[in-house]
Amino acid sequence: MSRVYNFSAGPSMLPEPVLQKAQQELLDWHGSGMSVMEMSHRGKYFSAIAEKLEGDMRDLLKIPKHYKVLFLQGGATAQFAMIPMNLLGEKSKACYVKTGAWSAKAIKEAGKYCDVVLSASSEDNNFTSIPQRDEWVVDPQAAYLHYTPNETIHGVEFSEAPEANGLPLIADMSSNILSRTVDIEKFGLIYAGSQKNMGPAGVTLVIVREDLIGNADPKTPDVFNYAIQAKNNSLLNTAPTYNWYMLGLVLEWLKELGGIEAIEQQNIKKAEKLYHFIDHSNLYRNPVEVSCRSRMNIPFILNDSDLDSRFLQAAEAAGLAELKGHRSVGGMRASIYNAMPEEGVDALIQFMSEFERIQNFVSNI
Ligand code: PMP
Repeated sequence: MSRVYNFSAGPSMLPEPVLQKAQQELLDWHGSGMSVMEMSHRGKYFSAIAEKLEGDMRDLLKIPKHYKVLFLQGGATAQFAMIPMNLLGEKSKACYVKTGAWSAKAIKEAGKYCDVVLSASSEDNNFTSIPQRDEWVVDPQAAYLHYTPNETIHGVEFSEAPEANGLPLIADMSSNILSRTVDIEKFGLIYAGSQKNMGPAGVTLVIVREDLIGNADPKTPDVFNYAIQAKNNSLLNTAPTYNWYMLGLVLEWLKELGGIEAIEQQNIKKAEKLYHFIDHSNLYRNPVEVSCRSRMNIPFILNDSDLDSRFLQAAEAAGLAELKGHRSVGGMRASIYNAMPEEGVDALIQFMSEFERIQNFVSNI
């Protein structure tokens, strides 16, 4: 067996010890005589898994008691609609910050339910920066302020939660959840799909302040209603049980490693190494303003796009997979989430350096 370093933006690499544990427990979970996949979502075994999952999530993220922790379906994309459905209440508008492709999608979906106030946008410079906070327009009549702390495609990340002028702050943390410490109390609601830093695709984490729920549009389907899901511990209907279990294993791995503080240090180190290499090379370039470069998704462009396919082929042959950039921006992208070991980043840098050396050699012949 040989495993590659997988730089996919998601679904992405999982920690090897997690996969091994899942393999060991596949046929018989803790002497139950059954696989987690075969358990009733209301039985005693799965209830224990679910309880530990929520407890570990609360511990890791230091989630206060007055926040509900939900595990839902539909991905982060479903949240684009569920947020206005659940949080508008009597209000008719909501503020959105546009810093890349994902916030743009959230805005488009919200437009079906309310008037979107575009608080700020970096579209004019191709989403390579974050607009200065003091230039944002925040409407006090809006129900909330939504932003995307890490733009997975454009590789732009906020270094801290923005001031929301008293509005509930809503964050799509799909691609940087559990990668850095956050102060939950600054947020009204945080959501994230599971397939980057949490586990296989199929679970959506929602952390929501209790006082914000219970005023959903009456037409909201029950499965999309935060208050109803909270009352039912996210088990209104059959949950993707195996995915909850896998997410639980990832959280256990993270706790053993020293929690979010510890993984954050590793993430800083990995990202700094890669940006440092890119910034000192003549072949590669990262277009994002230094102050808002993502630690998780690092796009880079080769100065000659004719080399792209050769680069990708050679990388693949060297055991470095999924480096192709998103089709909307081109170039390359290395996603280096929690599960990517530092050795994977070292191997990438070594490969990129060798590729550059060979190009220099060839162009000098
Ligand atoms: N938001 C962000 C920041 C994302 O990166 C993604 C997926 N790449 C989504 C939303 C959509 O997530 P899903 O596919 O789980 O609906």
